[in-house]
Amino acid sequence: MRPIPERYQNLAIELLRDLVRIDTSNPPGNELAAAEYLQQRLNLCGITTTLLKTAPKRGNLIARLRGDGLAAPLLLVGHLDVVPAAEQDWIHPPFSAEIHDGMVWGRGTTDMKHMVAVSAAILVALAESGIKLKRDIVLAATADEEQGSTYGMAWLVKHAHELLNAECAINEGGGNCIHINNRPFVTFQVAEKGVCRTEWTARGSDGHASQPSAELATIRLARALATLGDGYIQSGVNDTMRLALLQIASFRSPEAREQVARLLEQRRIEAALMSAGLDQGAIRAVRPLFYTTAAATALQAGDIKALNVLPAKAQAWIDGRILPGQSRTDFVALLQQRCGRNVSIQPIQQQYSPGQELPAESPLFQIAEKVMAQALPGAVLVPWMCAGATDAIHLYDCGIPAYGFVPMLAIQNEQNKTGPHAANERISIANVQTALHVLYHVVRDYCGYA
Ligand SMILES: [Zn+2]
Repeated sequence: MRPIPERYQNLAIELLRDLVRIDTSNPPGNELAAAEYLQQRLNLCGITTTLLKTAPKRGNLIARLRGDGLAAPLLLVGHLDVVPAAEQDWIHPPFSAEIHDGMVWGRGTTDMKHMVAVSAAILVALAESGIKLKRDIVLAATADEEQGSTYGMAWLVKHAHELLNAECAINEGGGNCIHINNRPFVTFQVAEKGVCRTEWTARGSDGHASQPSAELATIRLARALATLGDGYIQSGVNDTMRLALLQIASFRSPEAREQVARLLEQRRIEAALMSAGLDQGAIRAVRPLFYTTAAATALQAGDIKALNVLPAKAQAWIDGRILPGQSRTDFVALLQQRCGRNVSIQPIQQQYSPGQELPAESPLFQIAEKVMAQALPGAVLVPWMCAGATDAIHLYDCGIPAYGFVPMLAIQNEQNKTGPHAANERISIANVQTALHVLYHVVRDYCGYA
């Protein structure tokens, strides 16, 4: 596998740095400036683009490199918006894309302007290579992913569906490298958890604070919240994660594989993870993929200027993460059963999306598996689930399977403390090069004639 010429590596880094310097913190977004910048750069290289404005200062860019149409297109997806950054928490300013010690610093370097930059560089490299393509390669650089995608992917699916038409998509959510049993396992995301946020209300008698009781709204709410314990409220093992864990265990020994299968059957999740060879850090990271979880993220009751008054109402808001196949009704019933009848639980209408799970095997998986093994000797690609929600769900709804695969090498601390949404977010130049190298060959093999 030949390395991609250096000028495209430089192009990817340059595009990444320029995109980071365009502040697209969402809210308010302002992705149009980034979309226009990208349009200009791609047009200069002869690649056709369509800019779709969705609101003032908001917009999406669709770029297309044409194939001969023998097969349906491949879609590359990257969102242009980023989560806000509190400048005082950063060592180097979040929107200046400075390079220090081989790392590009800035908001969006890992979530996910790196994918946008890499995808754009792949389009340019393939356009200039003269390689014949059997399918179009489409880049969708979108707005608003961090706030529900109303002006981004959800809008495109509704109003510009024909531009997205594809056999499948490559998106964020996978490509992370985990070292287990002295071997690098690289995740290929085929499933993701859903989101179901709920509002909890407890009521009790109001009156003078000198006459408390066990049935105060605040105490009722606190008792209900305490039933959530550590937030891991129900275990579940889906095909994707069973397959992944069995594969990881099989590199330890055939016996370990059998033992893990048995433990998963018995729903002894932590024991299964340990038997597969995961250390404590990896168990912490992987455990949410085997559970429905619930976390209390906001609380409200009473008035801090009237501490002598019993509040009649106390409320909490709970962020729930559900497994594929689990519905909103199932989840609310599970919470209600767990915490009793002293609180009423209402789902928040706009804050629900179900999980999804695709078959682990696919032609794209096979190509990615082969390319990854060559790019990183000894690496094993495993099907995986993403604990967070991405734009994949919108594509899934319109019949396009979206796989999460932005390949990264594990570099200590890079993904944990300085990755998506963290202060001091940064990415090593080596990792941008890896993503470009691996994805270039995956895209080329999937779309080009041999
Ligand atoms: Zn993201």
